[in-house]
Amino acid sequence: MAFRKRFAPRRKFCRFCADKDLPLDYKRADILRDFVTERGKIIARRITGTCAHHQRLLTREIKRARQMALLIYTATHDSSVKKKSMI
Ligand SMILES: [Zn+2]
Repeated sequence: MAFRKRFAPRRKFCRFCADKDLPLDYKRADILRDFVTERGKIIARRITGTCAHHQRLLTREIKRARQMALLIYTATHDSSVKKKSMI
């Protein structure tokens, strides 16, 4: 076989479908942070496994959280990331 599986296959699932109590809300930046990179980019659905419906809601809540300054737009606004890249 030319292509061997390097990783054990792990079923991706939508965290918001699996856990109905998991709040999808701009005020819960701690949860939203799992779905953005450390530079502030929203992680693609194909990577996180979030379903289309919840990814749409998630994107909206992340953008709200950014406006409320709970999440970052880009790393340049975050002094901690800036300092790290300076080293
Ligand atoms: Zn879902």
